[in-house]
Amino acid sequence: MIDLTIHAALEKLKSGEISATELTRAHLDRIEKLGGDLNAYITTTPERALADAAAADARYKNGTARALDGIPIGMKDLFATRGIRTTAASHMLENFVPEYESTVSQKFIDSGSVLLGKTNLDEFAMGTFSKTSYFGAPVNPWQLERKLTAGGSSGGSTSAVAGGLAMGATGTDTGGSIRFPSAITGLVGMKPTYGLCSRWGCVAFASSLDTPGPIARTVDDAALLLSVMAGHDPKDSTSESAGFNEHTPLESILGDGKKLRVGVIRELNDVEISSDMKKLFDARIADLKSIGAEIVEVSIPNILDALAAYYIIAPAEASSNLARYDGMRYGLRVEGNDLLDTYKKTRAAGFGTEVQRRMIVGTAVLSSESYEVYFMQAARVRRMIADSFNAAFEQCGLIICPTSSGTAMPLDSDLSPLEYYALDLFTVAMNLAGVPACSVPAGLAVNGLPLGVQVVGKRFDDLRVLQLAKHIEQFAGVDNRPTKIMGK
Ligand code: GLN
Repeated sequence: MIDLTIHAALEKLKSGEISATELTRAHLDRIEKLGGDLNAYITTTPERALADAAAADARYKNGTARALDGIPIGMKDLFATRGIRTTAASHMLENFVPEYESTVSQKFIDSGSVLLGKTNLDEFAMGTFSKTSYFGAPVNPWQLERKLTAGGSSGGSTSAVAGGLAMGATGTDTGGSIRFPSAITGLVGMKPTYGLCSRWGCVAFASSLDTPGPIARTVDDAALLLSVMAGHDPKDSTSESAGFNEHTPLESILGDGKKLRVGVIRELNDVEISSDMKKLFDARIADLKSIGAEIVEVSIPNILDALAAYYIIAPAEASSNLARYDGMRYGLRVEGNDLLDTYKKTRAAGFGTEVQRRMIVGTAVLSSESYEVYFMQAARVRRMIADSFNAAFEQCGLIICPTSSGTAMPLDSDLSPLEYYALDLFTVAMNLAGVPACSVPAGLAVNGLPLGVQVVGKRFDDLRVLQLAKHIEQFAGVDNRPTKIMGK
């Protein structure tokens, strides 16, 4: 049952071949068996899961089943869940139990899905390997004995979905946190258009970049999850009215005489990537050509400056967002001699090194001496990148590019902060521009590990992004069934 896609499971639930309770138990058993190895969850919610499953079974019986009724999912532990602790993988929020439900997790409740638990991540979603988690890093289910990263920051979600500890999961993508972990675990990870999914009740990292989105094993499943997550939310002023209503399998946009111009980014051609990624990328392009896509070169002149701009803008927003954790209203409090001392002790004890680094950088670039040279300059680069994407989409319908240079690295790799930041080279520009981008498996490298490519579209072209991703998925044919990956 673990290997079923969401679509296949829904068919079986509808026909009565399996029950939501059986499906949920199968996943809870697997969490029991492999949860320790994978460290995918910070908190599991087995009682809640079984209650959700019983309610779903009742709805199947009386014919009122909903879009995701009975589907067991994982929720990134950045989304506030009422009555269930929500930690952001930080000591600061280790014991924080929200009294409200985030919009995204509420939509999952309304869809009838089953909550298995809260998935692990980098602390406050800052990182690339999920190693900054206060609860230890999640592990990649591929070649488990090698203890590879499942990516970050949504690494608990990708570990859970790839390992069969959830059928799908939520992620958030501020600079690549859905796409990079999905690529190196053989999954589909969709960063929707900024504003398509509400951020309300999601612990803030960098508000102008944070984008909730789905992680699944197939493009069809990702589309279904997105249709549940998307929609206008009056509680989020940046939420857009455009919805995403794709409940049916995605239609082809190529082949049978259909034409599409697919852009490749000239400036990325000069970036050195692994020979595996290069080979797979070229192979997938050849496949698209074979069904009638016309490949055109487009230019995003400032794309290589995206990293620098991101690592100014994201810390700046984070330093402001994280000022709220002061030990006064909620979260950790370490008593000091006076008010200032309490602030200092609380924040020094509550935040890990990477989070502190970002707050210091963010505060520095927002200071009156640096604001113009760093922050405003980064904002200008951001504008230019967004404009270049708009111009590129005059020449092509969609763009494709690699998601990462290479495959999953060992968790004990000793990289400097700048080396980690450099891994975001292929993902941050889409956040700066607010455009949708989906990472889809491109194939396996010679070491047997998966790699992904991204399909990028113009704002609100999320459906077409997924449609092209589905073509690539079919050509790549990566077998990502959990029992196949893990050999059990
Ligand atoms: N790796 C990036 C960072 O560390 C992206 C994180 C994210 O998208 N949440 O900021």
